[in-house]
Amino acid sequence: MSVIVQNCRTCGGQWFPARLLCPRCGGADLAPRSIERGVVEQLTHLGDVVIASVACDPEPLLVARLHGTVEAGDVVELTDRPDTSGRPVAFVPPSGRPREELS
Ligand SMILES: [Zn+2]
Repeated sequence: MSVIVQNCRTCGGQWFPARLLCPRCGGADLAPRSIERGVVEQLTHLGDVVIASVACDPEPLLVARLHGTVEAGDVVELTDRPDTSGRPVAFVPPSGRPREELS
């Protein structure tokens, strides 16, 4: 599982969702990059739905629907297979290794 983000070959910025031009430098040399994990920064509970901002080493900052019980600082796995919300989904790692450093 992973999320495909754009990597700007000019400035190194990482973007999701895809853009026509890099928001930082205006460059058009954008290449796909696969990101498998991120660190939860903040959580928002909307009834039964949990939305998380997930930092990915350190860019991009993704907004994802979260499945599982985690806290800020926990590592989650990511997939761009959207659920019914249409947003990327962050999963608690099956191995259950919270607060692990990204490798
Ligand atoms: Zn750029």
